[in-house]
Amino acid sequence: MNGIIERYEHLEEVIREYNPSAELSRLREAFEYACGAHSKQLRNDGSPFISHPLAAAEIVAEMGLDVDSVIAALLHDCIEDTGATHADIAKLFGSDVADIVEGVTKLTRVTYTSKEEEQMENLRKMLMAMARDIRVILIKIADRLHNMRTLEYQSTTKQSVKALETMEIYAPIAHRLGMQKIKWELEDLSILYLDPIGYKEIEDGLAERRLKNESFLNSIQARVAARLSENGIESAVYGRIKHIYSIYRKMYSQNKELSEVMDLYAFRVIVDDVADCYNVLGHIHEIFHPIPGRFKDYISTPKPNMYRSLHTTVIGGDGVPFEVQIRTWDMHHIAEYGVAAHWKYKQGITGKVSDEEKFAWIRRLLESQQDSDAQDFFQALKIDMFADEVFVFTPRGDVINLPAGATPIDFAYSIHSAIGNRMTGAIVNGRIVPYSHILQNGDIVEVLTGGASKGPSRDWLGIVKSPEARNKIRQWFKKERREENVTHGRIAFEAELKRANFQMQDVTREDVLPRVLKKLAFPSLDDMFAAIGYGGLTSQKAVNRIREDIRQATRAKEKDEREAHTPERAPAPKRRSVRGVTVEGIDNCLVKFARCCTPVPGDPVVGFITRGYGVSVHRDDCVNYIKSSEKPSEAGRWVRVSWENSTDDNYQTALSITASDRTGLVVDIASVLNAMKIRMLSFAAKDLDRGRVTVSVTMEVRDREALVSAITRLMSIAGVRDIRRAG
Ligand code: MN
Repeated sequence: MNGIIERYEHLEEVIREYNPSAELSRLREAFEYACGAHSKQLRNDGSPFISHPLAAAEIVAEMGLDVDSVIAALLHDCIEDTGATHADIAKLFGSDVADIVEGVTKLTRVTYTSKEEEQMENLRKMLMAMARDIRVILIKIADRLHNMRTLEYQSTTKQSVKALETMEIYAPIAHRLGMQKIKWELEDLSILYLDPIGYKEIEDGLAERRLKNESFLNSIQARVAARLSENGIESAVYGRIKHIYSIYRKMYSQNKELSEVMDLYAFRVIVDDVADCYNVLGHIHEIFHPIPGRFKDYISTPKPNMYRSLHTTVIGGDGVPFEVQIRTWDMHHIAEYGVAAHWKYKQGITGKVSDEEKFAWIRRLLESQQDSDAQDFFQALKIDMFADEVFVFTPRGDVINLPAGATPIDFAYSIHSAIGNRMTGAIVNGRIVPYSHILQNGDIVEVLTGGASKGPSRDWLGIVKSPEARNKIRQWFKKERREENVTHGRIAFEAELKRANFQMQDVTREDVLPRVLKKLAFPSLDDMFAAIGYGGLTSQKAVNRIREDIRQATRAKEKDEREAHTPERAPAPKRRSVRGVTVEGIDNCLVKFARCCTPVPGDPVVGFITRGYGVSVHRDDCVNYIKSSEKPSEAGRWVRVSWENSTDDNYQTALSITASDRTGLVVDIASVLNAMKIRMLSFAAKDLDRGRVTVSVTMEVRDREALVSAITRLMSIAGVRDIRRAG
């Protein structure tokens, strides 16, 4: 334990340096707690386990994070390895620390088996989404960095798995968060295990050229430094060989030997302000030959991860090209530490950046962060980059990306529509869940399918979150359930027509129907009903689209009729209700025909004096009349009415026909009425039990005599058992 105490004390020093007011008693408690918790564990290299969390905490402190983060780094393996709970940690170190430790533990438990390229971006996003608090990711990166630094003690299998994960997942995350220094180290450590031979080739090649390289670096550095100080520009100039993985990538993408890779050297000039950056650029371009097309101004146009610098590539005296990066100290800090630099700013190290700028910077860094108040966002230190997505695993370990709130149904359809259509249940993390179960990041989802499946249910349309699943369910209904869809669609369409004050026969009229079908782009009405039934078209949309056509056609027809029948008379307002009956004792009153019993001329009728709506005419056998006339309060309001002698109008009435259901029944009814020149206004069939059906027809007849003969003719249709008038 000797070295350990010294290292812990060094950790305190590092923190004190950037955060003089840091409260370190809690840190010491955490250190002692972690020592105790891990006391029985050894690392593979034989050192006490505590050396690992301590090293991770050191990395976190180097990033300059807050004390809670360093404490959480010390404790980061406690839940996973020692059985400590969130509650234990919360009690001792606060719920913030406990949340972070739990977050890191969750990330640690994610295991990925897929190696497909397209899966990797999903995995990266999943980790970010699971982390919620960005400190969780930063600690996880520190954890991984130390594990990579000590990977030599692991088995070769573990080495290649961890190295690949690091290369594909953690290095890109570090890049995304702008943490260049850690990204480079992660890449170099990964390639060391992924391609040890390639790594060694570069390492040896560079060692061979070490003297030559060093003299080159020194001479250029001296030349630049001298030139700048002559001109009164205060600067720090560094020269380095590019990191191994960047050379490795160049060799393999351009198929070159190390000796052919010219671009090995990079220089960095760091100055105090932006104006000096451009001054330095001018001097560099004067002493060396700039290579055209290689100058990049990331100061005026920062990279998406907010990296800022001027880049140029020039050629030195002996024809060797090298890159020069010019930046201020602030830019340098951000380039090295990325998102972590936020905490250094927060703790007043630079002091020059306003809150506004800090937030803007972070906000842009986390590109896809949407409509949340930036201020709140950063007080809570949350990342919600992928709040609108959820990432789950297939049993094989593939990551599936779904919209937030997605259910197992969405999952099933995202795999294949046949899986969704044959789904009979779902298992999430080993437990059977309902269809409406909301999936969480990292869930392992398995879909049960089987022959017992009756296909998707219409209810699923209200459960699923992804447009993809919704479309596939609709597709299924479209194909598999045409008849059902036609019926559902017809009902919905008729109801919507009614709401728009039209009736079915307004649409089916021979002068209207072709126009309507053309407008809606369906070959037949049934096709349109089917589309409405499976949800491909809403009934509102259908009616809205044809509303004008019906109206125009109706107007044109009315005009024709007026011209045909009453050419010389001025078109009087059509008030059918006032014509045809006389109310005893009242002249010129408003009359209307009751909807309950729809009387026609020839029916014995009575009138009811409504309050403010004139006289309503009922048949004298109407139930409403019989009930009402027995009430003392209403009996006095009934008056006698009689039909006038000549009525050349048609009157609306309704029949209810009960029949045994059979194909062609509806057609037979329609053709009887048609033959009698009785106009049908609406037609609806309803299934009763035991194969019986009720057909409700509303129609217009001249009088009772016409109605009676229609009923007689209808009774003779095969299967018709009973016909009643409404009311
Ligand atoms: Mn660890």
